[in-house]
Amino acid sequence: MKAVSVINKNFLQLSNNYLFAEIAKRVKEYKENHADEKVISLGIGDVTRPLPPAITDAMHKAVDELGVQSTFRGYGPERGYDFLREAIIEGDFKSRGVEMDASEVFVNDGAKSDTGNIGDILSADCTIGITDPAYPVYIDSNRMAGRQVEFISDACSVPDHKIDVVYLCYPNNPTGEVLTREMLTRWVEWAQQQGALLLYDAAYEAFIRDEAVPHSIYEIPGARSCAIEFHSFSKTAGFTGVRCGYTVIPKDLGELNHLWERRQCTKFNGASYIAQRGAEAVYSAEGRKQTRAIIDYYMENARLMTESLTACGYEVRGGKNAPYLWVKTPAGCDSWAFFDKLLNECSLVCTPGVGFGKQGEGYVRFTAFGEREDCIEAMKRIQALA
Ligand SMILES: *Cc1c(COP(=O)(O)O)cnc(C)c1O
Repeated sequence: MKAVSVINKNFLQLSNNYLFAEIAKRVKEYKENHADEKVISLGIGDVTRPLPPAITDAMHKAVDELGVQSTFRGYGPERGYDFLREAIIEGDFKSRGVEMDASEVFVNDGAKSDTGNIGDILSADCTIGITDPAYPVYIDSNRMAGRQVEFISDACSVPDHKIDVVYLCYPNNPTGEVLTREMLTRWVEWAQQQGALLLYDAAYEAFIRDEAVPHSIYEIPGARSCAIEFHSFSKTAGFTGVRCGYTVIPKDLGELNHLWERRQCTKFNGASYIAQRGAEAVYSAEGRKQTRAIIDYYMENARLMTESLTACGYEVRGGKNAPYLWVKTPAGCDSWAFFDKLLNECSLVCTPGVGFGKQGEGYVRFTAFGEREDCIEAMKRIQALA
């Protein structure tokens, strides 16, 4: 038997997303020819600040516990430890006037896994709506399962027809934009009318500055019966390498809560005890203060970059409630042409918007996750270009 006859052919339908490989290739080539230039990367969506002490102290303590007979722990509960789920409910929901029960919170090893894996408990033939541009995980994970994906080009107006499941990510990666309470309310009402399910990715909620913008979809009345929400400690607290997040599936969604528990008990054995103790510390008084300071650092980068780019005449979106700037390319320059121009003339790496979807053409994404000095230097180089 040839192995080819047993493969999941849906994988063959995936468009090969060469985005980051193509960027790496062009940067490598540039560096080979410009050995003395300092290349600054404002491209990759990964944090750069180290974990703050409140978190590393909690993780050290957890490691020590695991090394002692009386406090050793093996497999943890599949839903996550009570200490963390209770801290989450207090810190992220009760504090915002949202009631949530511990049985509705599932701790995971990061939001990427669950935004993809959630499809395990959804019908193979449901239609999936995804905003364009988008985080590529939503598209590829559903195509792997053979589902039809429909692109939504404007999340500011709801579709005029039924889509079974819609992914919404706000603050958005890559555009940095947010949905106002009114727009989010319109989505919840639409989902209720259509009997649709919303998958709300709140990975960047900690970057919201505008008091009027909701941090959780459950701040909207009715969302408990039509939305699942994903959270991550990755961008909030620098956990991209530690790995911890959580998913909320309210009991008002009926069977879905139970099915997800069944799924997790079968396919997942929990996030590590060490990571969960680290995540718990994010909610302590010190942890809050220290993670806040890191987010402030990134958001000051975003402010400086927005100010500078705007002064140069660029049209900048995002950057106010998110660590991403979505910058319109100059006339006559598509995403990749502007990427090449910035690389060749400024030794600067960004991400071509078209890599996140067709509607991303004509934009590039800058991240505010860099070092302050690098952001300032990058802006000087762009000024010199203008
Ligand atoms: C970074 C990111 C996440 C978080 O992924 P983790 O697996 O938790 O590190 C989730 N959604 C989006 C849109 C992201 O950009």
